[in-house]
Amino acid sequence: MSVSFRVRCPRCGRVEEYEPGEEELKAAEERGVVSVSFFHGDHTFVVFFDKSGLVRRLSVIKAAGGTVAASTKAFLLEEICTLFGREKAAYLLSAFLYHGRLALISSSTDLAFKTYQALKELSGLERPALVVEELGSAEELPENAVLIMDRKALANLANRLEGTALVDIEAPFRPGRKEKRGLKMILNIIEQALHLGEEGRRLFLREKLGRMRNLVEKAVELLDKKGILNEDLLEREVGRLEKEEPRWLYYVLSEFGGVEPAKLGARGVREFSL
Ligand SMILES: [Zn+2]
Repeated sequence: MSVSFRVRCPRCGRVEEYEPGEEELKAAEERGVVSVSFFHGDHTFVVFFDKSGLVRRLSVIKAAGGTVAASTKAFLLEEICTLFGREKAAYLLSAFLYHGRLALISSSTDLAFKTYQALKELSGLERPALVVEELGSAEELPENAVLIMDRKALANLANRLEGTALVDIEAPFRPGRKEKRGLKMILNIIEQALHLGEEGRRLFLREKLGRMRNLVEKAVELLDKKGILNEDLLEREVGRLEKEEPRWLYYVLSEFGGVEPAKLGARGVREFSL
């Protein structure tokens, strides 16, 4: 059975007709939704559709030179959850809050950029973005940058990405026990936030995610200084740790920072049990 759709670009009015291939529909079944991009000169028209070929969302992104100009409204929390699922949303937010270099990889740089914008907006955290397909080969990749790239660019750049956390935003996320425990805290925050009104939600997320960002930053400082993470010393910096906080912290440090478990959670001689 083949499906196709016709959609009008809200920016310039051009009508696009598209017939998703079998592969794309299969991917949509796994992920809930996939996107296709149409290049309209000074802007890109992105259409998200589901496994039935039903159009679920439209978006227009304006790109200029090597930087991507301020574009349409970022995805909201609901949309991020619908696109990727709540657990993947929690994973993406965790990756963004970790302060090391991060690459968001996608079949579409537009989707990766929109996701970056949403993570920035939700967390209130300023991190520079670089669209990698336009990056000169000799250019230095800045620390703290979020690299936006498609899978082709990833293959070309693989040797320059040491120390960069690579996150494929469309890859299906099947959390195991370790991931579920590590992400529980941020999942709870997402769930609470979804029950709040717009302004309350924004403040709530900024406060909660700001605290987590601070935790990671201080933990990395301590690790650099001492070679091991001591919870007592960390508590001196950030105040009392809540029960779920170390779990999330250790998960993020090992998942995105490549920190060995042996260096985590030493509270004197007593190891925090994971
Ligand atoms: Zn257009």
